[in-house]
Amino acid sequence: MSRPIIATINQKALKHNLSIVRSLTPKLKIWAVIKANAYGHGINNVWSLSDTDGFALLNIEEAVMLREHGWEKPILLLEGFFHPKDLYIIDRYQLTTTIHSQWQIKALENIRLLNPISIYLKINSGMNRLGFHQKLFNTIWNKLIYLKNIRDITLMMHCSNTNNISKVNKYFKNIQNLIKGRNCLCSISNSACLLWHQTVSYDCWVRVGILLYGASPSGNWFDISNINLEPAMTLSSKIIGIQTLKTGDTIGYGDSYTVKKPQRIGIVACGYADGYPRHAPTGTPVLVDGNMTHLVGTVSMDMITIDLTNCPRASIGSNVELWGNIIKIDQVAKAAGTLGYHLMCSLAPRVPIKIIC
Ligand SMILES: *Cc1c(COP(=O)(O)O)cnc(C)c1O
Repeated sequence: MSRPIIATINQKALKHNLSIVRSLTPKLKIWAVIKANAYGHGINNVWSLSDTDGFALLNIEEAVMLREHGWEKPILLLEGFFHPKDLYIIDRYQLTTTIHSQWQIKALENIRLLNPISIYLKINSGMNRLGFHQKLFNTIWNKLIYLKNIRDITLMMHCSNTNNISKVNKYFKNIQNLIKGRNCLCSISNSACLLWHQTVSYDCWVRVGILLYGASPSGNWFDISNINLEPAMTLSSKIIGIQTLKTGDTIGYGDSYTVKKPQRIGIVACGYADGYPRHAPTGTPVLVDGNMTHLVGTVSMDMITIDLTNCPRASIGSNVELWGNIIKIDQVAKAAGTLGYHLMCSLAPRVPIKIIC
């Protein structure tokens, strides 16, 4: 028997979540965002999302792989290309590329392509990572529309703070100013905008990641509990050891937990080297054979320790859900001071994956 930890990827849940997103924006096209190995769910499992209108990702190699597997609908490179020569691949495989820097425009001017390509013109809307300053938009737009290597241009922006309503309002204003008097395709919304802000009213294409995987863009499961998404990833393992401890005993590295009254502790085969967050504190929820309990002590590389006070029947071999349908990844992430995004992308390669179709 191998070590009992396993990540289960539920392809039905991916498909279901896409259909929920579709029902929220029936008139818009959807980019299913599958960067970071489909947020840790595996780039090979994205075919269950094939009802999407397009896939958005970062690596050109993955884009080529999708084409070679027969994907004919659009593919968007969210960070664009990293070298002028990449344009030959973009041309050959008809990829849509983001343009965020002057050197990329120069590259497009100087190259001879077989067919014109679709581009996403990225405008810096206050995140101050990638994109052109808004003041340059007119000039750049007026230049790009005459480039024969360009088929069409979509304005892309990314909101820096969807939790702050004044930031979102500023974002709205920026969009309005930019598109005024111009018949311009836009891609403005990510998952949070789509759920909670009317930015979709400007969109032709929404870019949706986290919702497809069944977690919340805000980090609070409660915020999405009403839209019926299904967690697509379950991380589970088993109890591989039991300790019955007396008052004053300590658990784990640094004696980080001291037993206050006689307590049964379960040792679970899952640690930070599996992608479980090392900063998860005592109290982080864990499910044992269907019963809620919690972590005690520090997370080690290969193990965690859990309280079995409320699980008298738990024994070696009992099933443990670290996150999944009952314990939401958002809850574990929140306890550890991070986001579901982070935990799903951090699933370690050593964890075996089981696919449910
Ligand atoms: C990752 C990414 C998204 C998806 O964001 P979610 O919050 O997961 O929906 C959208 N747009 C861009 C540019 C991204 O990089």
